[in-house]
Amino acid sequence: VGWDRVKGHNGVLKRFQRAAQRGRLAHAYLFVGPEGVGKKLFAREFGKAVLCEQSGQEFAACDRCHSCILVEAGNHPDFLVESRPPEVQEFPVELMRSVCASFSLKSARGRGKVVVIDDADDLNEESANCFLKTLEEPPAQSYLILVGAARDRQLPTIVSRCQVVPFGPLPAPVIDDLLVKQGIEDRANRQAALRLAEGSVARALEAADSEVQVFRAGVMESLGQGKKDLADLAKFWWAFVEQGGKESAAQRRRAKLGLRIMVDFLHSAIHCAVDTTFEGYDESEIKVLRGLAAQAGVESLIQITERILEADYQVERRVQLVLVVEALLFDLDRLGAFATSSN
Ligand SMILES: [Zn+2]
Repeated sequence: VGWDRVKGHNGVLKRFQRAAQRGRLAHAYLFVGPEGVGKKLFAREFGKAVLCEQSGQEFAACDRCHSCILVEAGNHPDFLVESRPPEVQEFPVELMRSVCASFSLKSARGRGKVVVIDDADDLNEESANCFLKTLEEPPAQSYLILVGAARDRQLPTIVSRCQVVPFGPLPAPVIDDLLVKQGIEDRANRQAALRLAEGSVARALEAADSEVQVFRAGVMESLGQGKKDLADLAKFWWAFVEQGGKESAAQRRRAKLGLRIMVDFLHSAIHCAVDTTFEGYDESEIKVLRGLAAQAGVESLIQITERILEADYQVERRVQLVLVVEALLFDLDRLGAFATSSN
């Protein structure tokens, strides 16, 4: 219960508990770090600990009192979480105004207020200024938490008024544990998810999804049959992207995940070629990787990897996906010549 739910951030937790015991919590925090490592979860436990009606010296929520139950149910009048609506690019100032207005109101249950603002990377100048104005006279026992990816996404005025709390990537065993708890039993599936997770639970879960598994198996098959041309790989990737739905943000996410999966295979094949003790894959998969490395040669594997990383960069830069796939198709077709020339 309580803080036990927060995994892999003991250092941060200790800092908060010490500060709370000394009555030195700041009024505003900026949580920064990769997505899906538990920043929002931490913010909620923080809110519960502040508002808990039974919390003692330890600054931990009891998870039983009325207040704790209300926060868990998303119904606590003094605990508010707001995020940028998915259909807009910036955090709207109207929303920020209403958040700030409710922050300035008296605490309904008398234990203070906690407001969490997710997607803080997307504050525009107007909403940031509204936020700053609220910080000039924070009500007693009130806390504002901004959650974002990096401090350099914020105006210097925000950074200087908030205590910045960095959250690091989660260690692999912590993520593996969480995957098992989510019912993902297959070891090869978990190993693949861990490689793609980069310390983020959200990414690991996404990578362990069944549709993604099918794609992964397909990439493996496509790379395993050296004679098949590489352009098929790009077509396959495109189908995977379209499967993600019509919405462009979702497609982009899929696109990046698909590219990461390909790069992961290619990197592993390169490793296989230079390291005979290579592991972290199933036997059958290792066989495919070794076959690929032997047939294509490290040199061309590196070339293909670089070309795919270029596509990843284009997706990141929001180049139209149709253009990305067309260019990738063209180049992979050319690079795929390795398969026929070595036969
Ligand atoms: Zn409680």
